[in-house]
Amino acid sequence: MAGGQVTSPTGTAPDRYVYYPGTEELGKDEARIVACGTGMPTARRAQAGTSFVVELGNGDKFIFDIGSGSMANIQSLMIPADFLTKVFLTHLHTDHWADLASLWAGGWTAGRTSPLEVWGPSGAREDMGTSYAVEHMLKAYNWDYMTRAVTINPTPGEIRVTEFDYKGLNEVVYEQNGVTIRSWPCIHTGDGPISYELEWNGYKVVIGGDTAPNRWYPEYAKGADWANHECFMTSEQMMSKYNQPPQLALRINLLFHTSAQSFGKIMSIVKPRHAVAYHFFNDADTRYDIYDGIRESYDGPLSMATDLMTWNITRDAVTERMAVSPDSDWEVEGLGEKLDPDRSRKSEYTKFTLDGRLDVDDVNREWMEPFMDDHDLTSDDLGVGET
Ligand SMILES: [Zn+2]
Ligand SMILES: [Zn+2]
Repeated sequence: MAGGQVTSPTGTAPDRYVYYPGTEELGKDEARIVACGTGMPTARRAQAGTSFVVELGNGDKFIFDIGSGSMANIQSLMIPADFLTKVFLTHLHTDHWADLASLWAGGWTAGRTSPLEVWGPSGAREDMGTSYAVEHMLKAYNWDYMTRAVTINPTPGEIRVTEFDYKGLNEVVYEQNGVTIRSWPCIHTGDGPISYELEWNGYKVVIGGDTAPNRWYPEYAKGADWANHECFMTSEQMMSKYNQPPQLALRINLLFHTSAQSFGKIMSIVKPRHAVAYHFFNDADTRYDIYDGIRESYDGPLSMATDLMTWNITRDAVTERMAVSPDSDWEVEGLGEKLDPDRSRKSEYTKFTLDGRLDVDDVNREWMEPFMDDHDLTSDDLGVGET
């Protein structure tokens, strides 16, 4: 907790109201949630597109949404890529899944040893569903896949998709290791978007997808330990700060998204142990109008989320802190067994490109030869082929 007293000039400060990623063991009974994106499609350095990382005391970790720009925040938590293989998408707007590609390729490069697994909703048509989206993302990144499969190992480049019916009403979409995840529909710019509920160890965590107020959320989220729900900027702010015309600024708060007043009303029904508002630019000159709107109908525990806000859930309390993490982090090695490159694969250079190589062997020989000796490498390991 904050406060306390320094007891010696050479000692440490008391526990601060701060979470330093990678330094705190998670209790067996405890859950931790870190907001790695809370903003808008126009990702900003202070707030990326939506992403919440949920860590449980049983060792399981889940990424709920992975919007534009959020991967830098996820990476700053210094969680090995091997522990970040399960992604649950609420819907397919870029501010909720654009950085799946960054996790996929970045984690692959930095030592992930297994495929990714993605869960997400179907759509009204096949081409509006999660399977279609991921399949075509991989097609778009085919050059990336082919070149990494040759140079690293193809296995971490696979993505296994589980697409479930977006119409499911509190139906189970995941059940493993004591964790149950359910979904229900949202009403947001078209059929498909959903909200999630995660149950573990008697805790109930609700991840609300983008939505106009819908009757399912209050029913199924009721009594949650921790529940987030989108809460939009006021229509005045959408005009003055976000450059929207009045018609869109009005509709966005009523038909596609949720106004602060609606958020308050919804949370007054749900009555979670802790409510979290997100999906607004959280600035000194925006947050208070939004906060006041919420407080017209909800007076319970509330976080106005911003990136790297961190919550710990125990039986006794739900705490809110800010994570403080390095800007220049390195990937941390996980527990997976290291994969060898597939030596049968060769880079597909044509003679045209290979003929363009500049001969710089004279300056590299001095470090290269001892390095190859130390690690039992031969010239074959350079893997330069020709087609
Ligand atoms: Zn959306
Ligand atoms: Zn969104």
